[in-house]
Amino acid sequence: MAEQRIKVAIVGGGIAGLALAAGLAKLSHIDVHVYESVPEYKDIGAGLALHLNAIKAMALIGPELRQAYFDKALSMGEENEEMVTQVILAQGPHSGQLVAELGRAKGRKTVSRADLLAGFLELVPAACISFGKKLVGIHEKPPPSHNDDHDHKVTLVFADGTNAVADCLLGADGIHSPTRRHILGADHPAATPKNHDGWQIYRTLVSAEEARKHIDAKWTTSVPILLGPRGHINCIPLSRNTRLSAGVAVRRGPSSAAAALSPSSQTTPPPLDPSLYADYTPDAQRIVSLVALDPSASWSAADHDHAPSYIPLHPSTPPPRIAILGDAAHASLPFAGNGAAQALEDAAVLYHLFARGVASAAQIGSALIAYDAARRPRSQRVVEVARRFGRVYAFAEEDGEGEGEGRKMMHEDPERMREFFAEMARFTNEFDVEGQNEEALRVFGEVEGGASGLRN
Ligand code: FAD
Repeated sequence: MAEQRIKVAIVGGGIAGLALAAGLAKLSHIDVHVYESVPEYKDIGAGLALHLNAIKAMALIGPELRQAYFDKALSMGEENEEMVTQVILAQGPHSGQLVAELGRAKGRKTVSRADLLAGFLELVPAACISFGKKLVGIHEKPPPSHNDDHDHKVTLVFADGTNAVADCLLGADGIHSPTRRHILGADHPAATPKNHDGWQIYRTLVSAEEARKHIDAKWTTSVPILLGPRGHINCIPLSRNTRLSAGVAVRRGPSSAAAALSPSSQTTPPPLDPSLYADYTPDAQRIVSLVALDPSASWSAADHDHAPSYIPLHPSTPPPRIAILGDAAHASLPFAGNGAAQALEDAAVLYHLFARGVASAAQIGSALIAYDAARRPRSQRVVEVARRFGRVYAFAEEDGEGEGEGRKMMHEDPERMREFFAEMARFTNEFDVEGQNEEALRVFGEVEGGASGLRN
């Protein structure tokens, strides 16, 4: 009898879900279906910059995915203009010093989430995705015995009263992931997002023409991050220098942090008060005043404490059939600009395991164990790196050197800051994404009891 196709359900058609679905839909032994809660995608404004590791991950799923990004991305400025994020101290004795140049590139691009999703969606057959399907429950039917893992099924229950049955559920359902709550247990301390440092992001979106009436024109065609203890200030030119996203990220500190953020618990932030920035550089003060005019695009940032596992916590019996990826697994603060890139690395590893490893439903468990082993340490380190970027930006990070009285804060030593940013950029962006895929496949072979099960 011919092997049945393996039914893979992906919950969440965001960056992780669609990238993975675009890959799995190419595999003849996989029957993939995406269940997305919204009836259609909305443009929520912010531009994403995808770094080298993200571009490599897309290419490993398929050149068409990488091309979709390049087709949809818009240059921040002119096509041949070199752009770089300049991190500059904007308060204190070293005011004006440049401490990092991040992501230097000619024709540097940003892409809106909605445009990127539209590009990915074109690569997923229409029959493989359903919109308006909000996951509200997960039931597992374990096999009658250990030898019958083919009968192991997962049932997805949706808010509209319908359900679906699959061999495997991959939860790409974002920062408030119900799949994460199912895996960890709703009471687990890491099940829901946190805002430990009380981050509040004040943001405005204006035309570049309007911005130039308030701030120096150079900040509408460059990407500065201006640092100081009461918030860091950031400008991102969008759509070939015609629009500007300007923001002030304020770390209100642990005492004001909402312990756990549910989608409904977002409170109105205190208004942004430009007078608090009187000791910042004049340029920085003017950008704060611009943001304060209309901070209607403001939001509270949050991330995840580390999940002990991206697959069910007791994976021994039966082997796992559920996993989380993307923000559902490791939502991070936006300060390292690598959340979407990590989601794409997850998708690349899972695609590789299903393409080169999994030949039958009974092997799904080994693939998910290998995925968890390959991806959890690195993706969780990126969550920590993003938290650290936030503290460094807010002049709240010790430099890790010296002892007791001699211990310095990082912002007191611009040279130390330069080293920190260079080291972090190497870790996040210049990573061997292909090697990570191969490592996952090696672990899969090991879990399967030898490399004999690998597909060509
Ligand atoms: P999402 O994109 O959140 O997708 C999750 C999907 O699941 C959504 O479509 C949602 O509707 C769906 N869903 C949720 N619940 C359910 C349910 N119950 N049933 C069915 N479907 C459900 N990253 C970068 O790499 N570079 C950047 O420059 C960058 N900039 C950023 C700037 C900002 C302001 C922010 C907020 C984030 C930024 N990030 C950046 C991070 C990046 O946006 C996220 O890491 C990325 O979108 C995660 O993708 P995802 O697919 O895991 O989750």
